[in-house]
Amino acid sequence: MSAPPINAAVILLVPVRECDENVRSLNGIGRLRVASRADQPRSGYLPVLREQVRARLEHALTLLPNSLGLEIIAAYRSVELPHRLFANRERKVRRLNPGLSEEEVYARTTEFVSDPTVYSPHTTGGAVDVVLIDRQGRPLDLGELRHNSRAWTDSEAIPPEQRGNRRLLIEAMSGAGFVNYPREWWHWSYGDRYWAYTTGAPHAIYDHIAYAPATHLAARAARLVKRLLRPRPG
Ligand SMILES: [Zn+2]
Repeated sequence: MSAPPINAAVILLVPVRECDENVRSLNGIGRLRVASRADQPRSGYLPVLREQVRARLEHALTLLPNSLGLEIIAAYRSVELPHRLFANRERKVRRLNPGLSEEEVYARTTEFVSDPTVYSPHTTGGAVDVVLIDRQGRPLDLGELRHNSRAWTDSEAIPPEQRGNRRLLIEAMSGAGFVNYPREWWHWSYGDRYWAYTTGAPHAIYDHIAYAPATHLAARAARLVKRLLRPRPG
């Protein structure tokens, strides 16, 4: 099966008509757990999604056996923060390693921080990385979260148990209206460009959104106050 990469021109050219839907926290949904990596405000990852996407996750849960739940590995990713993190890291790399070529600076920077100019559907609040968990919160075996040929959702090179578990995830998520990115069994979206491309919708309904939680803004304010109060030499 051939599916275009998420950054393919054919995807990036899909028009978007933002519908101005709010985002909502993913907390408080039964049988849904948010992994700590999906809640890293300092890295721009926040456990929020568009209202309708949240509702569709609740729907997906009703399509799973009662003994199973969903764990969110990644939800919304900030648009603005990755740019700042990238610029800060790049400055640091240059300062610590004078004389590096531009390629080397880029390579060392992206070791730690993802390139913010690479399109990520997670900035729309419509995309989610999700795995299945059992009643005790233990992840079911659906395969590794790694980019290789076995990550393709319909890979035949995986054990029958993984295939069966993927089938459960596919039925629940597709049944709730999500579209899968066929190169990553864990990546699902609704309303973004990949969704519009896959479903044949005339346009996407979710554009990138800037969203910062109050806690993150409070932390920024505290750092600013600390800097202003720092005694100056002389
Ligand atoms: Zn993803």
